[in-house]
Amino acid sequence: MRLQDQVALITGAGSGIGRESALLFAAEGAAVAAADVNLAAAEAAAAGIVKAGGRAIAVKADVSQAADCEAMVAAAEKAFGKLTVLFNNAGISHADDDDAISTTEAVWDLTFAINVKGVFLGCKYGIPALHRAGGGSIINTASFVAILGAATPQLAYTASKGAVLSMTRELAAIHARQNIRVNALCPGPLRTELLMKYLNTEEKKQRRLVHIPMGRFGEAAEIAKAALYLASSESSFVTGTEFLVDGGITAAYTTPL
Ligand code: NAD
Repeated sequence: MRLQDQVALITGAGSGIGRESALLFAAEGAAVAAADVNLAAAEAAAAGIVKAGGRAIAVKADVSQAADCEAMVAAAEKAFGKLTVLFNNAGISHADDDDAISTTEAVWDLTFAINVKGVFLGCKYGIPALHRAGGGSIINTASFVAILGAATPQLAYTASKGAVLSMTRELAAIHARQNIRVNALCPGPLRTELLMKYLNTEEKKQRRLVHIPMGRFGEAAEIAKAALYLASSESSFVTGTEFLVDGGITAAYTTPL
């Protein structure tokens, strides 16, 4: 069991990467607080864990709201006695996110409220809890676009993930001596709801796949395995990284094929 005696709080646990990570972390021995703005989805994830013999609670939390973030951390500590793994994973990619000319201020602000402020608030309330537990691991979900930018315009999303990556580096440096590791997880394009709702025709899918050396989209379960490594003590000397799990897309953009 790679997460024996650990307590993990995962945001966006109702779907995609968050749900797969919740199930995997629990299977590896962690007690899991599954947080999501969609309570029914969080409850389904938690129920799946309990059915498989694990320990889990569901918490309704909108990560853009300070009170919700404070409450989700408190709920995890109350249920399981401590918090040792914080996975700030919730994020959105707005349908109207576009180029600089077309993206509205409202879309920009909403994207930043969830993707950037959500990570900040998770840390604001989560780091004191990790301190109380004697240390732990924070994983912030960024994206390969934080490093490359995107070939199709989604300016607010790309900028928000750049902010997650730079925030992660500073958090890692500041909290390293407190036994708190902080890493960014940078997935490539995945076959989850978030992306597939836009790449909804074969032509759109192929336009994206042409850039991925492996010639396929990633699976949320593959990202969960990377998150498990960052959560566990196997990554004990790893902090401040931009952990790319991207089927080679970053290498392909930067190296001529
Ligand atoms: P998903 O849409 O399948 O799941 C996201 C979950 O977050 C949903 O359950 C949703 O209800 C929840 N959520 C949305 N807004 C929230 C809020 N304000 N507070 C709490 N929960 C909220 O998406 P996914 O593909 O699993 O994405 C998870 C993370 O991975 C996101 O940060 C996303 O930006 C990032 N990511 C995804 C891809 C991809 O191709 N899918 C690539 C790189 C990075």
